[in-house]
Amino acid sequence: MSTPHQAPDHVIVIGGGIFGASTTEQLARKGVRTTWVTSGTLADGASGRTLAWLNSAGFRSEPYHRIRLEGISRWRDFAARVPGSQDYLRFHGGLTWAKPGQSHKERYRYERAHDYVSAWLSPEQVPGTVAAVDPAAVDPEGAIFNADEGWVDLPSVIAELRTEIETYGVTEIIENAGRCVPVVEGGRAVGVLTGTGQRIDADAVVLATGPQTPGILDELKVPMGDDSPAAFVAFTKPLDHGLTSVLNTPRVAIRPAVDGGLVMDSGWSERAMTVDEDGTPHVSDEVVTTLLQEATAVLAGHPELELDHIGMGYKPIPGDGEPVIGETDDVAGLYVAFSHSGATQGLVMGELIADEVVGGQVSELTLPFRPGRYKA
Ligand SMILES: Cc1cc2nc3c(=O)[nH]c(=O)nc-3n(C[C@H](O)[C@H](O)[C@H](O)COP(=O)(O)OP(=O)(O)OC[C@H]3O[C@@H](n4cnc5c(N)ncnc54)[C@H](O)[C@@H]3O)c2cc1C
Repeated sequence: MSTPHQAPDHVIVIGGGIFGASTTEQLARKGVRTTWVTSGTLADGASGRTLAWLNSAGFRSEPYHRIRLEGISRWRDFAARVPGSQDYLRFHGGLTWAKPGQSHKERYRYERAHDYVSAWLSPEQVPGTVAAVDPAAVDPEGAIFNADEGWVDLPSVIAELRTEIETYGVTEIIENAGRCVPVVEGGRAVGVLTGTGQRIDADAVVLATGPQTPGILDELKVPMGDDSPAAFVAFTKPLDHGLTSVLNTPRVAIRPAVDGGLVMDSGWSERAMTVDEDGTPHVSDEVVTTLLQEATAVLAGHPELELDHIGMGYKPIPGDGEPVIGETDDVAGLYVAFSHSGATQGLVMGELIADEVVGGQVSELTLPFRPGRYKA
């Protein structure tokens, strides 16, 4: 017989990204004493350099689709409850079209069959629905418009959640703690050793360290699949662009940024990156310039885009591409939140992890995504 779950007195959440922020906020709401610790500053990881398109578009497993839809619905709740959030969280839909010679008709039919809000637009219909797109750039077959989609600026959300966390008065926030690792004794997580040499004891530890998660688990002999690639987004300087939706075009994906600029990435530019032997990623100026030109080509009026900066690092992706959520089989009291599409799942992830940590409730939503699936 398994021992009944005991609510922890003290939880440590490692990682200052969106998963760490939302988990800590949910724990604070429940009145749980928590230490939220991160190696550098909040939002300095993938959450600070992401396209953050809120979506469940295209083909994927039914459980993954379901959790992403829950994710979008939590963002709508957040938009309704947080004054001023329209500055950094918008639901103006997403527009997607196929490469020349390919078709998105099957994807469109699939989305409709899975109750995903999806409309087909001819190139001529695009300007009436989506602002700031050159209809001549749209594939002649047309495009899919997903009206329920949106985008978010995660550093703004993390700052808001931090303020909320502080009002509950049960959380200590430690930044610049260096590389932290869970301390395991007798098969149980009993605390964290920070990179600055501090040992903090706890009854439960949540690992929300983005692309660094598999490496940390490996040291603890907890198997985890890792497929995290080097990735970057380019941020432009502010301009009068008029774009409000997210664009997913064959050569570039674009969304508005909070400062009046644009944020963009693409599959081809990600694959053109190089990685040093020590894992440091690089991208050439030529690739970045071409990415900006691809964005110019799809925007109405073809505005000249000026690079402000790029955000580069690794994109967290588990080995099978699906989320990893919940307590590990190998170390009791060690919980993992590790996923791609973490912008979309940003808030729901914190809710699911906090429920499990505090009440031992394993949501049906997380059953296909348990960390234990990577055991040989
Ligand atoms: C280029 C790119 C495009 C993306 N596009 C989308 C998209 O369109 N839609 C979508 O939904 N998702 C997208 N994502 C994914 C999404 O951004 C991530 O899944 C999400 O931001 C991950 O958040 P996180 O909290 O898990 O990790 P992170 O934001 O990386 O946070 C982890 C934190 O932990 C800290 N840390 C790491 N190791 C340690 C340690 N040992 N000790 C202490 N602290 C540590 C880091 O410094 C960081 O602050 C994209 C990601 C990238 C990179």
